[in-house]
Amino acid sequence: MEQQARAEDALGLRMIGDDLYNTYEFFKLYVSSQNPGDLTWSVGSTGVLARNPCEAGMKKYIGCDLGGTNVRAAVVDVETGAVEHATMIPTLAREGYMAVIQRMSGLILGVIEQSGLPKSEIGGIGIGVPGVLDIERGVVLFLPNLVGHWTDVPLSRLVSEQTGLPVKLINDARSITFGEWKFGAGQGVDTMACFTLGTGVGGGLVINGRLHLGIGGTAGELGHQTIDFNGPQCGCGNHGCVETYASGPAIAAMGMKAVAQGQKTRIAELVNYDMNKITPAIISQAAQEGDPIAIDIYEQAGYALGVGIANVMVMVTPHRVVLAGGVIAAGELLLGPIRRTVQQRVFVMPKEQVEIVPAALGINSGIIGSALWAYEQRTVV
Ligand SMILES: [Zn+2]
Repeated sequence: MEQQARAEDALGLRMIGDDLYNTYEFFKLYVSSQNPGDLTWSVGSTGVLARNPCEAGMKKYIGCDLGGTNVRAAVVDVETGAVEHATMIPTLAREGYMAVIQRMSGLILGVIEQSGLPKSEIGGIGIGVPGVLDIERGVVLFLPNLVGHWTDVPLSRLVSEQTGLPVKLINDARSITFGEWKFGAGQGVDTMACFTLGTGVGGGLVINGRLHLGIGGTAGELGHQTIDFNGPQCGCGNHGCVETYASGPAIAAMGMKAVAQGQKTRIAELVNYDMNKITPAIISQAAQEGDPIAIDIYEQAGYALGVGIANVMVMVTPHRVVLAGGVIAAGELLLGPIRRTVQQRVFVMPKEQVEIVPAALGINSGIIGSALWAYEQRTVV
């Protein structure tokens, strides 16, 4: 609390008020205001050993995924990646964070009960959270896509109090990255980049055999790299991010625009001219049926992603780039233009050694990654 108070004082946040908390501005100020000495408290560490010897042999952890629509939890065997007793409940975020946390804790306890395991055999809980966190203190700083006042919420402590188990938090895209690396499409490589394509475009990096966390766990926001100096404004506050061209809503918006402009497209027929029903899946279906406008929409999204992937390839030289999330269901419609763009844009590293592949674990990657994260963090003093 003292450190939080110091950070708030440094920013004058108490005077600025709540509005600021609800924007990425808060996050940027929050991070940039820290001097390097202060930053250490919010940087995750995985290197310190042995806090509680009785936890050492445990293999079962709870992975939990806090989403805008649903909360999912399951028992995960952290040695095999096996997911058991996966259960889902609606988030009902508008009821406020305390109600969500109570329901989440009840869900977790229910999953443990279903498993038949005594609580003493569960090593801990990992929660993937869609927003900006202080992973060291287990605090949610803010969640851009969840209604309710999720600012400075000590999620880790609250769930721990209600479940009687240790709790670790991780950004949801980083948990997907971690899960795919250990047990999914990223297995066997020491450096990997992951893009998560959904409501937004998240990401994560594994570098030299470690999940790269950076300041407070915020590294790897691959969807918020600028690919167009003067592009549309992104939800993060920047202009021309990958996310503004390749998120699910961005792809749907291209379809809506085509229909609104009166262009002749199968997309309009598939939704019976109801714009609200246009989704990336509908556009994908139209493209599969040969609709040139739908094909072009995926061409544009793939081009934007391809430019972003080319940037990451040049900067990080990953052996593998993993694409996760609902939008990747479009398959070659998206992967084709991505691969062509990368071919046309990368020259200073051996691009032929980089595999660009879809994720392998489906909706379980985040749950697996969160559980693994709790397992890996078990030894931090
Ligand atoms: Zn952005």
